[in-house]
Amino acid sequence: MDLKTFIRDIDNFPKEGVVFKDITPLLANAQAMQYTLDKLLEMVGDVPIDKVVGMESRGFFFAPLLAQKLNAGFVPVRKPNKLPAAKTSQTYDLEYGTDTLEIHSDAILAGEKILVHDDVLATGGTAKATCDLIKRLGGEIVQCNFLIELDFLNGRHKLGDIPMRALLNY
Ligand code: 5GP
Repeated sequence: MDLKTFIRDIDNFPKEGVVFKDITPLLANAQAMQYTLDKLLEMVGDVPIDKVVGMESRGFFFAPLLAQKLNAGFVPVRKPNKLPAAKTSQTYDLEYGTDTLEIHSDAILAGEKILVHDDVLATGGTAKATCDLIKRLGGEIVQCNFLIELDFLNGRHKLGDIPMRALLNY
């Protein structure tokens, strides 16, 4: 199945000059959704996973599905002031300014094997900050797993030696 036929380019979203990869046609198609989930699971392989961490908000589409298939728990990483209990925060640099991501401090136990999932790897800031949060809690990152990697933004470089895989490259 050619999954790229289910991903559309939206010009100038969310701001002027950006070409946004819209995955909602893929989500709306039962066969494409099932095929994507199977392929994302194939990328993980047979290694045991304790928790799947998904980033707000488009990481939430597939991360809980992956967790269910892997017999793992799901942990949300969220934008500031969304999580109710004691949390750990990580601030990272954007092109202009900074952003912050948060995780519940008790969501990951030291030594747990973690799969990170998000829909798109762009500059890598989101994924790197998420990995930093997981490491601070003592989690061991098995893989960062993406539906799409935007090669020209070189987010892979920001992840350094953290293992990463993407299903589709642009
Ligand atoms: P980064 O931090 O790597 O620059 O951006 C990745 C984050 O922004 C991901 O959480 C992803 O959902 C979102 N993102 C950036 N560009 C796109 C895009 O073209 N399409 C979609 N669906 N999400 C994007």
